[in-house]
Amino acid sequence: MSAAAELIRGVSLVKRFGGIVANDTVEFSVVEGDLVGLIGPNGSGKSTLINMLTGHLPPDGGEVVVRGHEMRGQAAHLYAAMGVARTFQLTQLFGRMTVLENLLVPGLTRPGSTWRSVVQQARSTLDFLKLTHLEQLHAKNLSGGQQKLLELGRCMMLEPAILFLDEPFAGVHPHLRDQLITRIQELHEAGRTFVVVDHDMESILRLSKRLVVMARGRKIADGPPADVREDQAVLAAYAGS
Ligand code: ADP
Ligand code: MG
Repeated sequence: MSAAAELIRGVSLVKRFGGIVANDTVEFSVVEGDLVGLIGPNGSGKSTLINMLTGHLPPDGGEVVVRGHEMRGQAAHLYAAMGVARTFQLTQLFGRMTVLENLLVPGLTRPGSTWRSVVQQARSTLDFLKLTHLEQLHAKNLSGGQQKLLELGRCMMLEPAILFLDEPFAGVHPHLRDQLITRIQELHEAGRTFVVVDHDMESILRLSKRLVVMARGRKIADGPPADVREDQAVLAAYAGS
C-alpha cells in the first residue's frame, strides 16, 4: 500500500438496520487523484457506505481510515477538518438564506478564516459555478439542478481533498447536469478527488476513471469502467433491479 496516496479506506464495513444488512463487510479505498463512480440499484447500500465513510453514520463493524488515521467514533466535522466532504442525496441547503450566505456558512467554519477572505472565496465559487446572478436569491427558490450546484459549492468552500457526491444528477435538467459534470471534471483536473454516486450506469460512465458496483449491501465489482460494465455479476444485478 502506498500510504501517502491513500486518502480514505473503509475496512470490512458493516451496517444493519433491523433485519436488513445495508452494508455487508464492504472494502472500499480511494487514492488521491481518483474519480470513482459508485453505482448500484436503489437500496443496494451506496448512501449507507458514504454515510459511514464521511462520519455521518457509525459502522456496526469495521473501520474507516482517513489518511492513515483510524476514525473510530469521530464526529463528521472532524472528517471535514481532515479534508473529507460530501453532498446529500436530498440537498441540505438553508432555504431561507441567500445563495451567497449558504456558501459563507461552511466557509466561516474553517479555522483561521476571515470574513473578507470567505466572502471573496464564496464569490469566486459562485463565479466558477455560474451562479453569480442568483447570489441574492433565497436557496429555496433555486431549481433542483441549481440547488445541486450550490451544494457542490458548499463542499468546495471546505477546500476538501475528497468529495463524495450522493446522486448529484438525480432530478437535474440535462443542461444543468452537463454543467455539473463539467465542473466536476474541472475540479478533478485541478487536483480534487471524487466519489460520485448514481444508480444509472450510463451517466456515470462518462465521468469515472474507476467504477465500483454495489448490490444487496455488497461490493460486487471494482475496476476500470470498460471492464466493470461487461462483468457478469454486474449485468445480473442490473437485470434484476
Ligand atoms: P442506496 O443509497 O444504494 O439506494 P441505502 O444505503 O440508502 O441504498 O439503503 C440500503 C438499505 O438500507 C435499504 O434497504 C434501505 O431501506 C436501508 N436503510 C438505509 N437507511 C436506513 C435507515 N436510516 N433506517 C432503516 N433502513 C435504512
Ligand atoms: Mg442512496
